[in-house]
Amino acid sequence: MCLFCNITKGEIPAQIIYEDKNVLAFLDVNPIAPGHTLVVPKKHSVTLTDLPDNLLEPLFSSVKRVMGMLERGVGTNHFTIGINSGRLSGQEVDHLHVHIIPRFEGDGGGSLQTVVQNSPDKDISDIKERILKANG
Ligand code: 5GP
Ligand code: ZN
Repeated sequence: MCLFCNITKGEIPAQIIYEDKNVLAFLDVNPIAPGHTLVVPKKHSVTLTDLPDNLLEPLFSSVKRVMGMLERGVGTNHFTIGINSGRLSGQEVDHLHVHIIPRFEGDGGGSLQTVVQNSPDKDISDIKERILKANG
């Protein structure tokens, strides 16, 4: 069974900081910042695309709740929040998870826009046209 399904079912231990009917939040075992947390839906989904719509609100309201818990718990209200969606983005665990990474003064990290430097050679208006055309 999937690693994070095992964690949500309590079969593999984790440092759980929040749980409700739909969602579990636990500390990343290999944290890149104090309080680095993963928020996962209990229903197995690989990416947001295959998460049923009715579970989106529970997932993201939990992200918001955990932000508040971390603000009180590790003392910052600055965060990088993101999802590695698909292998090419760096997704290693094929169960949707939202990373909440607390950020601190002088932590040496960058913004989300620094994860890749692959600026398109086409104008963004061409790219917009292509996207709209493909979506009828
Ligand atoms: P991804 O690259 O898929 O977005 O990140 C997966 C994350 O899960 C990594 O940051 C990794 O440290 C974390 N992780 C992998 N295995 C475990 C585990 O067994 N327990 C916990 N708590 N975190 C894990
Ligand atoms: Zn799973």
